[in-house]
Amino acid sequence: MADQHVQIPPYVAPLPPDEDARLAALLACDVLDTPPELAFDNIVALAARLTGTPMALVNLVDRARQWFKARVGVEPTETPRELAFCAHAILRREPLIVGDAHTDGRFATNPLVLGPPHVRFYAGVPLVSRDGFALGTLCVLDREPRQLTPQQLEGLQALARQVVIELELRRRNRELEERLPDPTAIADLAAAQQQKDELAQLIVHDLKNPLMIILGNASYIADRRGLPEGDRRALRDVITAAESLQRMIMNLLDVGRAEHGVLLPRPRPVDLAETVRSAVRTASGRNDARDRRITANLGAEVGGEPLVVEADVDLIQRILENLIDNACKYTPAGGAIEVGASARGDGWLELWVADEGPGIPDNFKTRVFDKYARVARDAGSDRTSCGLGLAFCRLAAEAHGGRIWVEDRRTGGSLFRLRLPLVPAEGG
Ligand code: ADP
Repeated sequence: MADQHVQIPPYVAPLPPDEDARLAALLACDVLDTPPELAFDNIVALAARLTGTPMALVNLVDRARQWFKARVGVEPTETPRELAFCAHAILRREPLIVGDAHTDGRFATNPLVLGPPHVRFYAGVPLVSRDGFALGTLCVLDREPRQLTPQQLEGLQALARQVVIELELRRRNRELEERLPDPTAIADLAAAQQQKDELAQLIVHDLKNPLMIILGNASYIADRRGLPEGDRRALRDVITAAESLQRMIMNLLDVGRAEHGVLLPRPRPVDLAETVRSAVRTASGRNDARDRRITANLGAEVGGEPLVVEADVDLIQRILENLIDNACKYTPAGGAIEVGASARGDGWLELWVADEGPGIPDNFKTRVFDKYARVARDAGSDRTSCGLGLAFCRLAAEAHGGRIWVEDRRTGGSLFRLRLPLVPAEGG
C-alpha cells in the first residue's frame, strides 16, 4: 500500500499564498534565461565584497527552480526550488539570515549543506517588486558560519533595492515595446520599421530557393515527350506564375539592396544586341506573351559601332525583362512590342522597349519609377502589380550611372528608354 504520509523535508519551503500572481510578475520582467548583464554582475560582486563572503547571487525563484541572473563563486546557473534557501526568504519581506545551517532545523539536512557547495551561512534579502511580489533574493553565502554587521546588512539591502530597480526597468521597457506604435515614439518606430524591412528581406531571400525548385521541376516535366497537351498547358501556367513571382522577389530584394546602398553592379563587357535578342527569345516563349508579337530592332548595330557596354549583365537582363513584361501586360492581344538597342556615338548606348498599350499619363511619367507607384487605372484591377518593377529598373540604371525614362509614342503606346554610359560612372 502506498505511503499516504510522504514526509516533506524541512528544507522544502511552502509556496507563497500569491504564487501565481508572483510568477506572472516575474515573467513580466522578461529576465529569466537572459544572458549575464554588467549591471547585475556588478551588484553581486559588490555584495560579496561588502560581506566578505565567497558566494553571492541575484536569484530569481521560478516555478520549479531558482535561476541565477548573476553569480559569484557559484558554478551552476540554477538549482531545484526544493533545495532553495531563497524559497524560504521570499515568504517574508525581511531578510532571512541563517548564521549556521548545521544548527538550523530547517536547513541542516539540505543537500546543499551536506554536499557541495557546503553552505553554512546564508543571508538573503527579498527582491520585492513595486506591486509587492517577492521575485527572488539578493543573497550571499559562505562555507563557514558567520554573522553580518548591521552596516553590511544595510548595504546588502540597498543593493537589493538596486536589483529591483534594474528589474523594473526591464519590465517598463517590455511594456513600452508592447505598446508600440506610440505616436511620440518616432525613433522607436523607425527602428521597428527597419527591423521589419530586414525581416522582409530575409523572408524574401528564403522564398528564392523553393521557387527555383518549383520552376526547375515544372520546366523539367513540361519538357517531357508524350505529355498530354492539357497537362503541358497547366504546367506552363505554373511556370509563368512562378517566374512572375520570382521577378517580384528579385525586384523586392534589389530595391532593398539599393536602399541600403548595396546594389553594386559587377561590370563586364556586355553585348546589348545579344542581350536584346535573348530577352526577346525568352519573352516570346512565355505564356503571357501569347497573341503578341515581340521583335528585336537592332538597326544601329549595322552602322558598325559595337553595342558593347561595361555593365552587370544580370541587372541589364532583368531591367529588360521587367520592361518587356510590362509591355506584354499592357499591350492588347494582337499588338506588337519592339525591343531595341542603339549606339548614339556620344559615349552612351540605349536600350528601349516600345509597346502598344494605353501609355502613361503625363503627370505620372516620373512617378511610375517610384517604389509602389501604380497608375490609378490599375489600382482596382485584377492585374498583379505591386509597383516594384520600374523602381528596380531606375535603381539598377542609376547604379550603372545611367538613367531611364518613358515617352509617348506618336502612334500611341509607351516608349521606355534606358541610357547607359559605355563605361560606368565612378563607383558604379
Ligand atoms: P509592377 O512591378 O507591379 O508591374 P511597375 O513598377 O512595373 O509595377 O509599374 C508601375 C505602374 O506603371 C504599373 O502599375 C502600371 O500602372 C504602369 N506601367 C508600367 N509599365 C507600363 C506600360 N508599358 N504601359 C502602361 N502602363 C505601365
